[in-house]
Amino acid sequence: MTYFIARGTDLLMHVALLERDPVLGYLNIERFHTVNDELGYARGDELIKYVAETLAEAFPKRHLTYITGGQFGVLCYRDEIDEAMAQANARLEVWEPGRPIRLLAGFVEYRKGDALISLMDDARHAYQRIEQGQTYRVYDEQMDEEVRLRQHLIANFTRALDEGWAKVYYQPIVRASDGKVCALEALSRWDDPAYGMLPPYRFISVLEDEGLISGLSMHVVRQILKDFKRLDALGLELVPISVNLSRTDFFSRDLVRDICALMDEAGYQHNLLHIEVTESLFTDNQELLSREIDRFRAQGFSVWMDDFGSEYSTLNLLQELSFDVIKLDMRFMRDFTPRSRNAIIVSDIIAMCKHLDVVTLVEGVETEEHSENLKRIGADLLQGYLFSRPQPLDVLLDRWVEMT
Ligand code: C2E
Ligand code: MG
Ligand code: MG
Repeated sequence: MTYFIARGTDLLMHVALLERDPVLGYLNIERFHTVNDELGYARGDELIKYVAETLAEAFPKRHLTYITGGQFGVLCYRDEIDEAMAQANARLEVWEPGRPIRLLAGFVEYRKGDALISLMDDARHAYQRIEQGQTYRVYDEQMDEEVRLRQHLIANFTRALDEGWAKVYYQPIVRASDGKVCALEALSRWDDPAYGMLPPYRFISVLEDEGLISGLSMHVVRQILKDFKRLDALGLELVPISVNLSRTDFFSRDLVRDICALMDEAGYQHNLLHIEVTESLFTDNQELLSREIDRFRAQGFSVWMDDFGSEYSTLNLLQELSFDVIKLDMRFMRDFTPRSRNAIIVSDIIAMCKHLDVVTLVEGVETEEHSENLKRIGADLLQGYLFSRPQPLDVLLDRWVEMT
C-alpha cells in the first residue's frame, strides 16, 4: 500500500497535463477468504498470481499493485474501466471449473491536489456499495451515508452483542389444521442508539462480508436458549425455534459442533432448534453444505429450506438434499387468488412435497383469503402478518397460552 501510494503520487504529478480523467481503483477478489477456507492456502496463492497476471493484461502499462489478501490497487483512466473489468472477469470465470471467481472494484476520480491515501478510502467505499449485477462502482458523495452506517456496524459489532443492541424478535408459525402456534422463527434486529431500529437487510450483508455473521448466529442461539429458560421459569410450554444461518456461517467455524455444545450445556433437546438455510446458499459448494445439513440432521436438528422458489435450480435441490420443511418464498403470495398462476404453482409444489414426505410452510400469509386458499390446497404450516408480525418475546408472552 505504501508503495502504491508513493509511486502513484509521483505519477500523478505528471498526469495533470493530460486530457483524460485519471481514476484510482481498489480491486478485490470477491469472498477471497472462502477460497482459502475451501480450497486451501496454496490454491489461494495461485489465485492471487492468476489475478495479478490477468489485471496486468487488462490494465496494460498502468500503475498496478498487489496490496494484501485479495486486494489490488490501480491507477488508470475513467474510459478504460469498463473494458478492463469485463476482460478481467471473463478470464476469472474460468479459473476453476464450477467455481466462478469475480473481481469487484471501486473507483474514484482524481482531482489535482487530492491525497491518494484518502482517495483509496473513497474507492473502497464505492466498492462496498456495489449492487447486484455490477462488478464495479465509481464513488459519488451520496455514498458517504451508507458507508458511515457500514463502518459504524463493523466498529460496534461486539458492543451490539454485549450491550443488547442485537435483539431477537420472534414470529409465530401456525399449523394450518388448527391455527395453533407450533414454532417460532427468530429474526434479528439491530436496535442502535444512534440509528434506531435497523431491520436485517441493513446489517446482515455487512456482517456476512466482514466475516462476522457467525458471531451473530451464535448470539441468536444463546438468546433463544435464554428465552427457553424464561418460558420454563414461567411454566409455559416450549415450542421449537428456527435460527437463520448464512452461507458464510458454514465456512467460518464448525457450526454443528458449536451449536450442539450450546444446546447441551443449556440442557435442551436438539429438536427444539430448527436450522433455516436459504435456497440461494446452494448456488455453489453444494457438497460441503449438504454434508453440514446431514450432520445437523444426524444430531437431531430439523433443517428447513428457506425462500424456496426464489432462485433457480430448486427442483434439483429437492431431489439431492434432505430437508424436513420447505418454506415457500413470500413472492408466491403476490396476486394469490384461487386459480391464479401463483396458486397453481404453490398447489403443485405442495403436492410434490407431500409425495417426497417434506412438510410445507408458506410465508407471507397476510390475509384470511390467503390462509383459506392455502389450507384448501394442503399447506401444512403458515407464517405471516395475518397471524403476527415478528415481536419481542415479551409481547408474545401475553398471548402464549391461547396461542399455543
Ligand atoms: P426470512 O428468514 O425469509 O424471514 C422472513 C421475513 O419476512 C422477515 O423479515 C419477516 O418479518 C417477513 N415477513 C413475515 N411475514 C410477512 C408477511 O406476511 N408479509 C411480509 N411482507 N413480510 C413478512 P425480516 O425480519 O426483515 O428478515 C429478513 C431476512 O433477514 C430473513 O428472511 C432472513 O433471511 C434474514 N435474517 C433475519 N435474521 C437473521 C439472522 O439472525 N441471521 C441471518 N443470517 N439472517 C437473518
Ligand atoms: Mg427464515
Ligand atoms: Mg423466507
